[in-house]
Amino acid sequence: MEKIVTANLRRLPSVDGVLKTAVAADAIRRFGRPAVVSAVRHVISQSRGNGAVPDRPEEVTAAAVSLLEAQERPKLRPVFNLTGTVLHTNLGRAVLAESAIEAAVTAMRSAMALEFDLEGGRRGERDDHLRDLLCELTGAEDATVVNNNAAAVLIVLNTLAHRRETIVSRGELIEIGGAFRMPEIMSRAGTKLVEVGTTNRTHKKDYVGAIGAKTGIIFKVHTSNYRIEGFTKEVGARELAALAVERSIPMVHDLGSGTLVDLAQFGLAHEPTVAEAIVDGADVVTFSGDKLLGGPQAGFIVGRKDLIAAINRNPMKRALRLDKMRIAAIEATLKLYRDPDRLAQRLPTVRLLSLSRSAIEACSRRLLPDVQAAVGPLFSVEVTACESQIGSGALPLVTMPSAGLAIRSLSARGAGRLLKRLAEGLRDLDIPVIGRIEEQALVLDLRCLDDERAFARNLESLDLSEKSNESA
Ligand SMILES: *Cc1c(COP(=O)(O)O)cnc(C)c1O
Repeated sequence: MEKIVTANLRRLPSVDGVLKTAVAADAIRRFGRPAVVSAVRHVISQSRGNGAVPDRPEEVTAAAVSLLEAQERPKLRPVFNLTGTVLHTNLGRAVLAESAIEAAVTAMRSAMALEFDLEGGRRGERDDHLRDLLCELTGAEDATVVNNNAAAVLIVLNTLAHRRETIVSRGELIEIGGAFRMPEIMSRAGTKLVEVGTTNRTHKKDYVGAIGAKTGIIFKVHTSNYRIEGFTKEVGARELAALAVERSIPMVHDLGSGTLVDLAQFGLAHEPTVAEAIVDGADVVTFSGDKLLGGPQAGFIVGRKDLIAAINRNPMKRALRLDKMRIAAIEATLKLYRDPDRLAQRLPTVRLLSLSRSAIEACSRRLLPDVQAAVGPLFSVEVTACESQIGSGALPLVTMPSAGLAIRSLSARGAGRLLKRLAEGLRDLDIPVIGRIEEQALVLDLRCLDDERAFARNLESLDLSEKSNESA
């Protein structure tokens, strides 16, 4: 590989030569020898490829150091989520409460009594730390927790309906972004899907007609991410639970987002709470940790003691379990729900969802001059009213009055291209800014902006010049 044949290439500095320079020695102290050697090799081989021959070792080292610095930057980076979608799945959903962050950090730093009963000095269960809180907040008899709600649905179906039938309404066979389709999950869980009713209407008699000797569970899915309107009929959870009791079949209710408090008290639409699903008679309820609940990614399973015990005995549980960091963060998040009056103050998800348009508008007015200065004279910036959404499939038709900044290109020609370059420039900042393009404008919905000063400071390095070396 190091064999140099042509006269031109012979002028390339050798790897050894480059590594002897003072800058390289400094780079080795910063990045370690193997990384520097590989970066130098990369720069030299690239130079061979494109014929641009750096003939001084210092040039090679400088190029290698920029490469190493770029590699040093974390791949997973914080961004400003100004999309207007509060629980944006692609941007990591819920931002955690301070108490949850502290609990997770403590758990990371220290050995934890994760599966150790401190009172008896015996082996304990990792779910013990969450069980009582979950039961208290939902009214359920028992609770367990897994990696996410998709995992919760999978293990529930596999435990309660393996090689048996799962009855579900055709109106509830949902797909959730990212290849989570109910029929496919069911087949992987080893249960046979028995669809009843039609897309828009399902009656109690449809369920009754489908119940047989092989029925494992009656399954209800809260269709949180879309709505069928018009001539529709579904069998409510309570009615379905009564039927399930009558026929001694467990009824499972996948709530999806699920919330522990009535969001109506924060001015939002009513989303069914987990406690309501339990009161309505579901034997098992599943819901997410990082949707409306506002915690880390997790899937909660609450309900009847005997069924939860069976789920815990399923070997899949071991594959889907949580680590100490998440258990710590969940415990801290759930504790915030014991004091609903201070929830909006302490839980970012609820705080962000309940911000008023006027507060967000005031923030937009404060930031307008900074944004105008950063984007320059080619663009106009104005305060605009807009609508935020919850995201992650919760209450898809509900939007919240919000406000932000609309940035438009001032020249009619090439306006689309300019907006695209602006969006790219914003993504290229130290803390990338993610907005949305809407009717010839780049809209920054400021609902989820927490730190105005950091945002303004970050904008100062906005660079909208045409990138010349796209390959770099
Ligand atoms: C979101 C959702 C899921 C999947 O939950 P994750 O926590 O994303 O794994 C399952 N069912 C319903 C109804 C949902 O809305």
